[in-house]
Amino acid sequence: MEKRFIYADNAATTPVSEEVLAAMLPHFRTAYGNPSSIYKLGRDAQRDIETAREKVAAALGAQPAEIFFTSCGSESDNWALKGTAERLAKKGKKHIITSVFEHHAILHTCEYLEKQGYEVTYIPVSDKGLIDPEDVRKAIREDTALVSIMYANNEIGTIQPIEEIAAVCHEKGVLFHTDAVQAVGHVEIDVKKQGIDMLSLSGHKIHAQKGIGVLYVKKGIVLPNLIHGGGQERAKRAGTENVPAIVGLGVAIEAATRNIAEKAAVITPRRNRLIDGLLTIPYTRLNGDRDKRLPGNLNISFEGIEGESLLLMLDMNGICASSGSACTSGSLDPSHVLLSIGLKHEVAHGSLRLSIEEDVTDEDVDYILETVPKVVEKLRAMSPVWEKMMKGEKYE
Ligand SMILES: *Cc1c(COP(=O)(O)O)cnc(C)c1O
Repeated sequence: MEKRFIYADNAATTPVSEEVLAAMLPHFRTAYGNPSSIYKLGRDAQRDIETAREKVAAALGAQPAEIFFTSCGSESDNWALKGTAERLAKKGKKHIITSVFEHHAILHTCEYLEKQGYEVTYIPVSDKGLIDPEDVRKAIREDTALVSIMYANNEIGTIQPIEEIAAVCHEKGVLFHTDAVQAVGHVEIDVKKQGIDMLSLSGHKIHAQKGIGVLYVKKGIVLPNLIHGGGQERAKRAGTENVPAIVGLGVAIEAATRNIAEKAAVITPRRNRLIDGLLTIPYTRLNGDRDKRLPGNLNISFEGIEGESLLLMLDMNGICASSGSACTSGSLDPSHVLLSIGLKHEVAHGSLRLSIEEDVTDEDVDYILETVPKVVEKLRAMSPVWEKMMKGEKYE
C-alpha cells in the first residue's frame, strides 16, 4: 500500500479550520482596534468579542455573561480550582474532590493546593475508566468546597456520568466543575440541564488556535480576579483581549457543535473497525470502556513493546499518533491514566492512542490496519521483554 499522511492525534491538537482562519484574518491587519477604545474601530472589535461570547454561550446552553475568555484550557482549570479554593477557604471549606486520572492541569493544581494547606480526595476509577457517582457522594464532607471531575478523559476517551455527579454535588450543596476540553464538540453539552457550575474548554482541540480557552462560571458564583489590571472580562481577567483568537473560537465552537450526531455516525464505525482490527493482534487490550467513550478515541496496549518506538515507526509510515498524553512524553513514567485503570507498568508503556475525526477516511483506516500490525511485529521481534514472555518467563 502507498504511504499516506494520516493525522490521528486530534486529542493533542487540531489544525485551525479554513472557516476559523478566514474569520480571524481581518482582525490582524484591518479590524485591529483595541476593544476598549471608544472610536468605531475599537467598538467593532468589542462587538466581535461579544458575538463570539454569544456563540460560546449558545454552544453550552449558558448565558453570555457566564463566559470568560482565558488563554488556554489549563488556565481555565487553574482559575476554577484556585479561585474556588481561595473563596471558600474563608468559609472554612478547604476540601476538594477530584479523580486520579484528571489532566495535569487539574492534578498539579490540586498538588499545589495541598501544599497550601488544602485537603484533596482523589476518587479512583474503575478498570473501564469510569467514575462511580456514589464514590463522589461518599467523599463529600461538611468542609468540601468543590468537586472537579473531567467530562471525557484525554487518553482513553471515557465519558463520565457528569449529570449524575453534578446531581450528587448539588444534593450536598457543593460546587461542581468539569474539565470538558476533550468533550466539547464531540458530545452534547448543556450546562443548565446537566447542572454544571463551572466548565473549562480549549480552542485548539476544536479547530481554533492554540492559546485561547474559556471558563464558564454559573451566574451567582463569584471567583476572585485572575489578573488584576483593566476592566476586560468584567475586570476578572485583565489584559487587552486576544481578539483574533476569541473571534476564531466563536466560529470554531459553533462549527464543532453544529452536527455532533452526524459526525459521530461517520467516525464511530471507523473507530470500531480500528479497535476490532487491532485487537486481532495477540497480547493486546483496549483501554477504557468500549461504548462510553468519545467517538474518535481508541487506546490500545500491545504487550512487549515500547510506546515511543511504536510512535516513531508509525511516524516513518506517515501516521501521527500518541502514547499516553503529550504532556508525559519525554518522561519515562508510564501514563497515570493507564496505571489508574489497573495496567501494569510494562503494559502501560506499550500503548497507542489514536484520536480521529471525519477526515480519516475508510482507506486511511485500511492503511492503519495494515501498518500497525507490521510495526508491532517488527518491534516485538527486537524486544527482549517479548522474547522472555514467549518463553513463558516472568518479565517484571
Ligand atoms: C488539552 C487539555 C487541557 C489543556 O488545554 P490547553 O489549552 O492545552 O492548556 C486540559 N484538559 C484536558 C482534558 C485536555 O485534553
